[in-house]
Amino acid sequence: MILNVAIVGSGFGGLGAAIRLKREGIGNIAIFERADDLGGTWRDNTYPGCRCDVASNLYSFSFAPNPKWSNTYSYQPEIWSYLQDVATKNDLRPLIHFNHDVTDISYDRTDRLWRITTNQGDFQARSVILAAGGLAEPRMPDIEGLASFKGPIMHTAKWDASVDLTGKRVGIIGTGASAVQTVPQIAPTVGSLEVFQRTPSWILPHLGHDVTQRSMRLFSIAPLLQKFVRAFGYWQRELMVLGFVKDPSRMTKGETMSREHLERQVPDPELRDRMTPNYRLGCKRVLISNDYYPTFSRENVTLVTEAIKRVEPQGIRTVDDVLHEFDVIITATGFYVTDNPIGTKVHGAKGEQLAEAFRGDMANYKGTMFPNFPNLFMLGGPNTALGHSSIIFMHESQLNYIVKTIKVALLRDARIEPTVDAARTWTQGLQEKLPGTVWGTGCSSWYLNEQGKNTTIWPDFTFKFRKETRHFEPKDHEISV
Ligand code: NAP
Repeated sequence: MILNVAIVGSGFGGLGAAIRLKREGIGNIAIFERADDLGGTWRDNTYPGCRCDVASNLYSFSFAPNPKWSNTYSYQPEIWSYLQDVATKNDLRPLIHFNHDVTDISYDRTDRLWRITTNQGDFQARSVILAAGGLAEPRMPDIEGLASFKGPIMHTAKWDASVDLTGKRVGIIGTGASAVQTVPQIAPTVGSLEVFQRTPSWILPHLGHDVTQRSMRLFSIAPLLQKFVRAFGYWQRELMVLGFVKDPSRMTKGETMSREHLERQVPDPELRDRMTPNYRLGCKRVLISNDYYPTFSRENVTLVTEAIKRVEPQGIRTVDDVLHEFDVIITATGFYVTDNPIGTKVHGAKGEQLAEAFRGDMANYKGTMFPNFPNLFMLGGPNTALGHSSIIFMHESQLNYIVKTIKVALLRDARIEPTVDAARTWTQGLQEKLPGTVWGTGCSSWYLNEQGKNTTIWPDFTFKFRKETRHFEPKDHEISV
């Protein structure tokens, strides 16, 4: 059987896509999921303290509000359970092929179809929606001798709860979003904790708090009120674009707030100095936490800022030749983003790899389609990620365009791809804009690819992206029937 639409991944993106297609009456769709359960990054990241740094009322589907969030910034178990709920309510489970690891997606020019190879057999589809996630492939650090360590090594995104940290000597590499959440949680349990910081992060106070039963009841009986709260949070975040994009010098206000936060929470001036970033706030992802800095006042927690030389069987040796001995090493070292392996598995009509789009060698159209990749769509494609707001807003915008395009394709049995001109205009327009933004002020971050090009971030208000993706523009596409 030839599928109308094959969706890869069952996280927020894949589930959202399936719901939108179903609501538009598009049937004969399937979701391919490599794991045995749905949920994407919110299934995989189970490290202690994992939660979302975007408020839950905004970090949820606009069409599936949840009046029962127990915290304004929910923790991973609740977000994962929200996704399970959404899947059940929308009857998505029968569509999901679990334990199907997609190894190749190639366009067959003869049959004008996509061939999807999985570890459990091959499939064919007229259209493909890639929703494999930008933060799906954990990156282990490239440190000499890592494999020689005698104890357990675990990445935060592959947390192994069977490793008992009680009383152990633990080293954690990285001080990004994941580390900042894990460190305060494990510090009281472990014997000692050494945190290896390469670059300090800007950290702002966390405004999250528990939601009262009364508010939950109010949201249940007055959904408009919850919509209002969501809209308020949305517009507050959109204002940040003025600093991130329009005039990065405005970020000094946030820098002052962060420095004051650090001063209040870290009494030792020498330690404060080592934890103070020397780049513009926003250039790397801004973090929020109230319990990370105070953790360093604990007797059993140390910040290590000497660079790592290598890993040895007993622990981590730093460049000052000190061996830091550990029982367990945790890597909070992020993900393959601009070099996400999914890109190397997708081949267009002329055999080219989709990975070229993130390398910056291939133009894309609205971060969603690519010339020579007919009827193939990517959620979270190039320059659709955000530093200031909810990625789900971006996914829903992309889906407006995707669903309309798929409808045209199905109605006319057509193969649709963006024209080279339209894709070049879009891509060049963004690339000309990016150097003037906060992400171009000089720091290393996962927003930049190996060539230093920003192929991840959307450099504007998100409502502008929503407007751009509202319609299917026939003039920007080649439609072959
Ligand atoms: P990350 O932000 O990429 O941080 C990785 C950390 O590891 C950085 O401190 C990095 O240092 C360090 N590192 C990497 N390789 C290293 C090496 N060889 N030696 C020493 N240090 C090394 O990764 P993450 O914390 O997992 O977060 C990734 C993204 O996931 C976030 O930015 C966010 O979008 C998302 N996330 C979100 C939440 C949330 O609350 N919503 C929570 C967790 C993650 P450098 O800075 O020097 O490179």
